Amino acid sequence: MKNLILPLLAAITLSSPLRTVAAALDELPGGELVTASLPAVPVPQRARQLICVDPGHPNTFNAATTMVNGTNENRINWQVGLRLERILKEQGYDVLLTRNAELHYVENKDRARLCNNGAALAVHLHCESTPGTGFALYYPDRPGVYDYKNDPENGTRGPASGVITGSRPLADALAAGMTEGLAGALRPQGVRGDSRTAVGSRQGALTYSIFSEIPTVTIEMAVLTNKQDAAFIKSEGGQERMAGAIAAGIRLYRAP
Ligand SMILES: [Zn+2]
Repeated sequence: MKNLILPLLAAITLSSPLRTVAAALDELPGGELVTASLPAVPVPQRARQLICVDPGHPNTFNAATTMVNGTNENRINWQVGLRLERILKEQGYDVLLTRNAELHYVENKDRARLCNNGAALAVHLHCESTPGTGFALYYPDRPGVYDYKNDPENGTRGPASGVITGSRPLADALAAGMTEGLAGALRPQGVRGDSRTAVGSRQGALTYSIFSEIPTVTIEMAVLTNKQDAAFIKSEGGQERMAGAIAAGIRLYRAP
């Protein structure tokens, strides 16, 4: 700044009358009058945060297309995923979806790898079909070992400790956003370690947690075998509230 102001002051001091200097500064060669100003200093643009939205299923192990209470888990995950994508973009985030159609098959480890491509965090959308009601959140609380004997990557260990320490605060933020946004509709059932899930109890962590290099949380949005939960998450209004509540949780963890 100093370098620009000093020559300007020198020009004003040396020239007479002052009006001439002002006119010289204000006039473009074509004679058009403009406001004299110092060259604008470019403001560095902060990159928008990239959020990885993973509508869970279909994959080789589970397509999740079995009909339950008039819908299926795969469809609900996809529909809420699209709403979440739209809402996050409206709020100023960039969004990476892990699949591009309701029946687009992508393996869980590949979903994690897609998300690792520059995303700040990943949310994996699922629904439960066990007895119960409400929503629950799962995060990697310890490293696991990928356990699929026929896969060349069988035995892969992960995630790294930074992912484990970053994922719990994300799960807590999502729980807070969802508890407020879904009040009166779906009850919070808690924040739990991956090892409380069926796959996690076998491997130590869920598959995409093992392959994740960024904070990652699995959201069991509702219990589809529960009639009230299913009615809520099937409805457009319920899906919109769910997506809005998840977006609010993401915002608590990371601003756009
Ligand atoms: Zn699922």
